[in-house]
Amino acid sequence: MKKLAVLALGLTILYAAADTFPSRPITIVVPFAAGGPTDRTARDLAEALRKPLGGVSVLVDNVAGAGGSIGTNKVAKAVPDGYSLLLHHIGMATMPTLVRNIAFKVESDFEYVGMVSDVPMTLIGRPTLPAKNFKDLTAWISQNKGKVKLGNAGVGSASHLCGLLIQNALQADMTTVPYKGTAPAMTDLIGGQIDLMCDQTTNTSSHIEAKKVIGYAVTTSKPLTTASLKGLPTLNDSGIKGFEVVIWHGLYAPKGTPPEVVVKLNTALRTALNDADFIKKQEGLGAIVITDKRLDNAEHKKFVAAEIARWSPIIKAAGVYAD
Ligand code: ASP
Repeated sequence: MKKLAVLALGLTILYAAADTFPSRPITIVVPFAAGGPTDRTARDLAEALRKPLGGVSVLVDNVAGAGGSIGTNKVAKAVPDGYSLLLHHIGMATMPTLVRNIAFKVESDFEYVGMVSDVPMTLIGRPTLPAKNFKDLTAWISQNKGKVKLGNAGVGSASHLCGLLIQNALQADMTTVPYKGTAPAMTDLIGGQIDLMCDQTTNTSSHIEAKKVIGYAVTTSKPLTTASLKGLPTLNDSGIKGFEVVIWHGLYAPKGTPPEVVVKLNTALRTALNDADFIKKQEGLGAIVITDKRLDNAEHKKFVAAEIARWSPIIKAAGVYAD
């Protein structure tokens, strides 16, 4: 009885607060290190969300580690009042298969606010690698069996998935080096401490353009038209038939966030994704801002469920999951 009364009181407070939402700063948790591509998307989005959310501050909190699961779990367990949100990528769909023991349930622990962007990946190498194109790279990898260091953002991350699929396709056994995000991995790649990495174009475009890293290929089925990535072949055209990995990003709130709050967040998200400055920044880095039905909460959830169904057999068949 007592428990029920407390629960009823809690719900009354949450629902009353929904009327005035938002009245204080909102925090978007990014489950990777600052300066990386997920962080970049979140920071551009936070800026674009401020106005449609009535001018409240939208802060970004990097809760990095364990391939994204620490930050994701933090939001799954946060107070469901709309002030704690999660910006995450394809890991929401691949983590349940890539990582055997995760502390949250993607399908039932979150409200799906709407999707944000689709972002291609690129395979990149340290600037001092002797291989100047993908064909040379495959030869260099087979000459250096067991010695190639492949960076990623931890087990369950997008770079982990992409790197594992490439290793699998090339039958190459590389030493993976995990970081708390691909920003610190990029620093080490530029410095030559690691050899290769797969990452979103939102992190790699400027470094490829500045020749700080070598761009070998894009992971989309068609070549990209963004200025800095125009000349890069697809992995599919380079010999890994059927290879296609596109990283999508979405916004989430903890399960139980009042429906009126989710509607307010979704409306603000739609306005933010129409912001000319946001579109210019993101598209200049190769991202495609979502304009289709995946902006709808239910469609977002359906899409993630379909992605789980799509990736799970691929990951299992490739035998690339890990503890
Ligand atoms: N790109 C990273 C990943 O591989 C995450 C990040 O640092 O944004 O999942």
